[in-house]
Amino acid sequence: MSSDDKQKKLEELKAKILADGVYTDLAATATQLVFGDGNPHADIVFIGEAPGKNEDLQGIPFIGAAGKFLNEMLATIGLKREDIYITNIVKYRPPNNRDPLPEEKEAFLPYLQAQLEIIQPTIVVTLGRHSMNCFLPDLQISKVHGQPKRYKGQVYLPLFHPAAALYNGGMRQTLIDDFSKIPAVINMIKTANTLTN
Ligand code: URA
Repeated sequence: MSSDDKQKKLEELKAKILADGVYTDLAATATQLVFGDGNPHADIVFIGEAPGKNEDLQGIPFIGAAGKFLNEMLATIGLKREDIYITNIVKYRPPNNRDPLPEEKEAFLPYLQAQLEIIQPTIVVTLGRHSMNCFLPDLQISKVHGQPKRYKGQVYLPLFHPAAALYNGGMRQTLIDDFSKIPAVINMIKTANTLTN
């Protein structure tokens, strides 16, 4: 699929979320839908929980403090925001930044899966336990962070959420260390795919 086709399909999917009236309760308190941002041809898709205050106001995921930290970590592996795609499970800001509810995550999951089907990334990097548990429900982030997991043909790399690690020195270093594994994991997947194709 060409880049334009992917972009067009993503725009259609965004319009479908609005047309389907997904979680209108959340839509009512949010400023806007925060669908996703970045390169539809990216090897890596990052998935967070839900937009915060800045994201809600600007309509772009991860542009607040956690986003700034994420950008710094991307730079350490030679990547910019234009090289990756980033989104959240829940696409409206929950009131007062509360955790997304199970029914909110469930409502948005089919759309998130459709987003991934369009992009077809080499790896999905989940940020925080909510994101990880959407795809890998039985795992504990404290035990599996930084370890790539293959599930139904897709490779996931569970990482701690940058907002949780921002003010916790130990977790911050762990996240930076886990992040540094991303290029090698992508190389491994691509090499394995070449061998099996
Ligand atoms: N935290 C998230 O999980 N997503 C955002 O977009 C911003 C902060």
